[in-house]
Amino acid sequence: MRLTIDGTEIDAKEGETILEVARNEGIYIPALCYDPDLKPNGACRLCVVEVEGRDDLPLSCMTPVSDGIVVHTNTEKVKEVRRRIVEVIRSDHEDNCKLCVKNEHCELQEICREVGVETTPYEGIKKLAYPTEQDESNPFFKLDRRRCVLCTKCVRVCEEVQGVGALELNGYGFSTKVSGIGGRLIRDTACESCGQCLERCPTACLLPKIFVVPSQEVKTICPYCGVGCGMYMGIYYDRIVGVRGNRENPANRGNLCVKGRFGIADFVTSLSRLDSPWMRKNGELVSVNWEEALDFIASKLSEYRGDQFALIASGKLPNEDSYIAQKFARKVMGTNNIDHCARLCHSPSMVGLSEVLGSGATTNSISEIEEAKCIIAVGTNTTETHPVIGLRVRRACRKGTKLIVINPREINLCQHASLWLRNKPGSDVALLSGIAKVMIDEGLLDYSFIEKRTEGFEAFKESLKEFDLHTAEQISGVSAADIVKAARIFAENSPACILYAMGITQHSHGTDNVRAIANLAMLTGNLGKPSSGIHALRGQNNVQGACDMGCLPNFYPGYQPVTDLEVREKFESAWGSSLSAKPGLPLTEMFHAILEGEIKALYIVGENPMLSEPDITHVEEALRQLDLLIVQDIFSTETSRLAHVVLPAATFAERDGTFTNTERRIQLFRKAIEPIGSSQPDWWILCETAKRMGVKGFGFALASEIFDEMAGLTPIYGGVSYDRLEESGLQWPCPSQDHPGTPILYAQQFNRSNGKAKFSVLQYHPPKEAPDEEYPIVLITGRSLYQYHTGTMTRKVKGLNELKGTEVVEIHPEDATLLGIFDGEVALITSRRGQVAARARVTESSLKGTVFLTFHFGEVPTNRLTNPALDPEAKIPELKICAVRLEKGDESNLQAAVGEQDLDDLY
Ligand code: SF4
Repeated sequence: MRLTIDGTEIDAKEGETILEVARNEGIYIPALCYDPDLKPNGACRLCVVEVEGRDDLPLSCMTPVSDGIVVHTNTEKVKEVRRRIVEVIRSDHEDNCKLCVKNEHCELQEICREVGVETTPYEGIKKLAYPTEQDESNPFFKLDRRRCVLCTKCVRVCEEVQGVGALELNGYGFSTKVSGIGGRLIRDTACESCGQCLERCPTACLLPKIFVVPSQEVKTICPYCGVGCGMYMGIYYDRIVGVRGNRENPANRGNLCVKGRFGIADFVTSLSRLDSPWMRKNGELVSVNWEEALDFIASKLSEYRGDQFALIASGKLPNEDSYIAQKFARKVMGTNNIDHCARLCHSPSMVGLSEVLGSGATTNSISEIEEAKCIIAVGTNTTETHPVIGLRVRRACRKGTKLIVINPREINLCQHASLWLRNKPGSDVALLSGIAKVMIDEGLLDYSFIEKRTEGFEAFKESLKEFDLHTAEQISGVSAADIVKAARIFAENSPACILYAMGITQHSHGTDNVRAIANLAMLTGNLGKPSSGIHALRGQNNVQGACDMGCLPNFYPGYQPVTDLEVREKFESAWGSSLSAKPGLPLTEMFHAILEGEIKALYIVGENPMLSEPDITHVEEALRQLDLLIVQDIFSTETSRLAHVVLPAATFAERDGTFTNTERRIQLFRKAIEPIGSSQPDWWILCETAKRMGVKGFGFALASEIFDEMAGLTPIYGGVSYDRLEESGLQWPCPSQDHPGTPILYAQQFNRSNGKAKFSVLQYHPPKEAPDEEYPIVLITGRSLYQYHTGTMTRKVKGLNELKGTEVVEIHPEDATLLGIFDGEVALITSRRGQVAARARVTESSLKGTVFLTFHFGEVPTNRLTNPALDPEAKIPELKICAVRLEKGDESNLQAAVGEQDLDDLY
């Protein structure tokens, strides 16, 4: 349709409001309560306009356009009304702009200038109703009601975008105020401290506790989880003073979680950063300069060339550093003994999805999740581990998407689910096979997809003939009726997607779990089209990239097998050296090889196996046996304390690089501040070592040069360059310069030799360690929204520690009563491998017969308990579950644990 605004004819779409059309055309209409992400509510009434033929002054944010209307935004009548409204708003607003930290950065100030209001003739009544009340209960931000204009953007963003509803307009009439729900302090609500409200606040009502206006902003990517949120880091004289979401970034559209928004400056500029190399001399680690450290490691490493050497990289390393790490292991050290933490999270996805679909990666894009008609979230606590994806799932549910949660724990998403299947830990294959069985028996299938695009259906169908729902019910603990319901909901609401994470993979049968998920997607034809697919949610920011870069014992970059002669010759010719054809050891087998005396030197870049590996006691034994342990990190860690050499790495904020997120999006981040102390990028350290060892091919001056070399050897990254990444990244495969990237995999065919996806015939295998008389309880492990991985970064952030600074063990009330453990008391948790102590939280969130711990806290090293039993194919340990015993402890157990860890220098 066509309308006229201020004399200009403009095309508009049906459903758009006058305000939206005007703003898109660059025509200014003042508004304090308008936000493109929120439903308009006309709270501020400033956006009045005149429409020819109407006597009133409609609110442009609430008035949809219609064909042929003529709008005037700036008539004398409109200006006069706006002036009166601003005077009223101002009368209730603290009138001392010069003293306000947001002076000259305030939308109200801007509007006052625009409409010509300098003072107000009115005495605000609201001011009298709640004169100075502030809410400073959140560790990161405060609510100062003296500056509130009741635009309600904070309340609406919390409800409509974040899906939390922690804020409300409390009270009536003149005493109406923004507060935590039910009039509570924000701290006492479900607030997730995401800070979305701060970003929307037009005045200084909601502000970070320390607020500095940045002198410049640097476009970057969050260094925490695999969502890969785009953000702008605010800088003031080489200090990080704030972070805001990048609305143009397709992964997050401006949304951030608490870690991304508030969890960066404190760790990057922490006083505990490693700022110089350290070497062990006479048993003590002492600070040395780079020359001494690099000369030492170069000469020592020369003694351990070949398979006596291994390198553990990290899912936190940027692509460039990951590429250099594997090149260093292969070219300089002559071994394929290189692996990283994907072994502990998504190796079953690599094995399982590669086998049945042709690639181990997530098939679709994050943005598509919201448009799915049905979502299965299985083995993923998405709102805590991938919060910005979690908010998309919640938003999808509000729009009518059916959500099926499959999880033994009661997680946040259960509140939004159409169906929650509370299965017994480790029973996923039986449960998912039960769902598949119902689909087949009831004909809830996409026959055309199965026929044209898959193979092995008949064998799969045959394998389920003898499998009945009673068996599925017995094994999983989920009623047959609910299994039927799940099958019908999923099959009848297409497109549908499946999200999963480590609740699926960290099992001794993790690969089979992944195959079972793929079977469901194939049965219903939910692959290769928008809003369908399988999202194997990556935990760490660049775990996808580290796999892509070849930090794997059997693949060069781009999943090119080390055993393939043609591929090997390509790399030999590019790198100018002969390379080993023997696949290396996976991370989980390296520690055993160390104890066997096969590996003598270990180089760990950015990982902390002393907290992240299962059965830490065994890991410690192995690390202590090494001739040479080099640890490169940004902080001292539980692992670096055992090292012979510790090297200080620069953070993402101190250099350029790229990360690849969970949807295969390669994203560029730029240097924002100078490196702390003498820290250096990981790639620089490895290159300098290689040069000192006399090896050519490491003379890079810039991260982009490394990227270009990698892209030239890696077909799926072949068309990617820094220039092309500047805007919003590219999703691989992107094989040529003119290729636009691939948001959806397998639109035409699967990446297998016959182009078809393959059904898997599966058999249920129980977890390796079932509860018994001695260890009657199942321990489930997971993560918290407020901490990250082994806590090396997040535990440096004061506010995050205030929100969750200690471990608690979650116990079901009936188990707690039986054991005589009350909420807040100390519990001892013992497995066949060790014991930890933690304060108890008695909650029905935990299934009866199970307890839950995270692995973020060095003083409660959960992985001292976990089972190192491996999935035979992916070599992932069964970190998710093991059998434990619980007993009542006392305060001395907690104190002993903290004392033993001597955490001062770590946290
Ligand atoms: Fe960072 Fe993940 Fe939070 Fe996004 S969702 S801000 S990537 S931690």
